[in-house]
Amino acid sequence: MSQPLWILIGTTFFILVFWLRRRAAKTKHLRLLRQTPLTVSEREIVRKNVGIYETLPPERQHELEGLTQVFRGTKHFEGAGGLEITEEIVLTLSASACVLLLGRGQVGEPYPKLSTVLVYPTAFTGKGHRDSDSGHAVRSGESWHQGTVILSWDNALAGAVNDQDGENVILHEFAHQLDQADGRSDGTPNLGPSADRYRSWARVLGEEFLTLRSRSEAGKKTLLDSYGATNEAEFFAVATEFFFEKPERLRKNKPELYQELAEFYRQDPTHYH
Ligand SMILES: [Zn+2]
Repeated sequence: MSQPLWILIGTTFFILVFWLRRRAAKTKHLRLLRQTPLTVSEREIVRKNVGIYETLPPERQHELEGLTQVFRGTKHFEGAGGLEITEEIVLTLSASACVLLLGRGQVGEPYPKLSTVLVYPTAFTGKGHRDSDSGHAVRSGESWHQGTVILSWDNALAGAVNDQDGENVILHEFAHQLDQADGRSDGTPNLGPSADRYRSWARVLGEEFLTLRSRSEAGKKTLLDSYGATNEAEFFAVATEFFFEKPERLRKNKPELYQELAEFYRQDPTHYH
């Protein structure tokens, strides 16, 4: 065998060993984070600020704490608009974001494509949504494909504390993250290998989206916030907020939609409340 070939094989082997060792170290790091319990004062912050935490059965609370530890240990939190990041902000946002991941048996990093959570003190000027009253693009949150979620702390906190009003900007933005994980923001997250799941999701969510859109356009009352009629991605994010915060109402009024979301999230929040 020629010398260049030996060099190539040797280099490839070295890179492979290096990569495997790094992956093993990361897995160990994530496991240690997950196994580190919250302190009493940290748990108190989550209890006080994340309304849904109290409604969870003990094993789910335990799972949420582990996910929260991994989330806060792997994401970068950055204050904007003069906001200083505190432990309260980190814990409240981390725990709320991870509610969406309960029941998924996730062993890796939560929201692996997300690197940064940028937090403003109050609503901020964004580039997408419009505040119809003022004509300015005022946002309480944004989710970007490129690894960033932006949140307004006062909107985020209000949404997290009250877990029964159907509005939670943290759940909303992190539902977008799940949707965007496959590279598209189209209201259909990765549903797994079964084509039937996609067909069923497209039929149920597609019909409900069109119903919401036509009722909002006609000025009729809607169960879900009419913001969900903006497009399919917003529909999924708005439906997610409702699913976790008003599960009984959703199951009663839109049983098929409830079932689709319950299958995707692998959770039945009617058991929480
Ligand atoms: Zn949205």
